[in-house]
Amino acid sequence: MAKKKSRIGQILLLLILVAILGTGTYLLYKDTTAPQVLMTPNKGFITYKTPININISDTQSGLKAVKIVLSQGKKQLTLTEKTLPKGSFDYNEDILVKKKQIKEGPFELAVWAVDTSLAGFGSGNAIIARGNYTLDTIAPKIEVQSTTHNLNQGGCGLLIYNVEEEPVKTGVQVNEDFFPGHKQPNGTYACLFAMPYYTDKKDFNPVLIAEDAAGNTRKGSFWYHANGKQYRHDRINISDRFLNAKMPQFEGDFPGLPSQVELFLKVNRELRKKNRAELHRVAKETSPTFLFEGRFIRLPNAAARAGFGDKRSYYYADKVIDKQTHLGIDLASVRRAPIPAANAGRVVLAESNFGIYGNAVIIDHGLGLQTLYSHLSHIEVEPGDMVAKGQIIGKTGATGMAGGDHLHYGVICAGIPVNPIEWWDATWIKHNITSKLK
Ligand SMILES: [Zn+2]
Repeated sequence: MAKKKSRIGQILLLLILVAILGTGTYLLYKDTTAPQVLMTPNKGFITYKTPININISDTQSGLKAVKIVLSQGKKQLTLTEKTLPKGSFDYNEDILVKKKQIKEGPFELAVWAVDTSLAGFGSGNAIIARGNYTLDTIAPKIEVQSTTHNLNQGGCGLLIYNVEEEPVKTGVQVNEDFFPGHKQPNGTYACLFAMPYYTDKKDFNPVLIAEDAAGNTRKGSFWYHANGKQYRHDRINISDRFLNAKMPQFEGDFPGLPSQVELFLKVNRELRKKNRAELHRVAKETSPTFLFEGRFIRLPNAAARAGFGDKRSYYYADKVIDKQTHLGIDLASVRRAPIPAANAGRVVLAESNFGIYGNAVIIDHGLGLQTLYSHLSHIEVEPGDMVAKGQIIGKTGATGMAGGDHLHYGVICAGIPVNPIEWWDATWIKHNITSKLK
């Protein structure tokens, strides 16, 4: 009796063993999917400093072996060849190509991986992934073609140059400010840049840069002469009458302030800053070639009331409450005077309630050069409209932060306000802009 019982026990144990082994073998056979390979980046330009991340995974039976081969022309080089310990589900490696391995130009990385599955009569599921790259370690060569660059603080200059290799980023860097260069139909590059009004002569060090797709950056210098500028000081009296007339329109922007003066300060500081930032956004919408011709025209029969770069002190009840820089020219004519487009271009902004500027229009003249018309009582153009020099775009007014009917006229270079006077001067344009394009 006891003997029979143990016999049944032995058979049961055997059956259980067969079941366990069978399930295990079945799982090994069941994994019919190959490992996954992720290469980051999986193509494109790289330098000796660009790591190519190889990530291999197999979530089912696990990884058995990996191999990474670099090939360039007829040359093949095994970078990695490994058998992995049991239970490896993930393999990760950063590849940095070395000078002695390959030369400049195209090459391929092939990643081979196999899992521990018994599929394919025990050979496992294998995968080969390939990435095609180009080793580029040489920064683009730049050659400056224009010779004289005379800049006035707050003014503009034009640089003409050649780049040997198609850059992904090129232009003139002036401290924190970047002025993009634009490829011209004849293949050269033209960059309109500024000596910003806030940059002193001693701090003005423009650098020409060109960066290629691999990230190699060339920095070049060019000859220039910079003139500093002394700006005028101006006193602006803020009256209760002005506050009562002008502040209610901004209550929605800054609700719940205890006084009109405090609302004025918010508008004069924060809204002004926000509107300036928007000029940078609008500046990106520019034509790669100049759209204008000849000198810029001004509002006819108008007196200039405030100049570019005026350092304004705002007084309330005989006390200085704020300081700002005036970055356009205020032109006063008759009320609701028709405003001509200063030059040919494309309307890139036509907005009512554009912050402190009120109803405003911005016209793009190409290469980041734009003109701003603000405080309008009426707008006659729409974004996208091509306008001719002299075409009426609206009427003067006192919308936004304007005490009386006038045109605040601004010229902008890559989002930075510049002195409009240069662009009213045919001789200046000829010497500094148009003659260089020939
Ligand atoms: Zn103004």
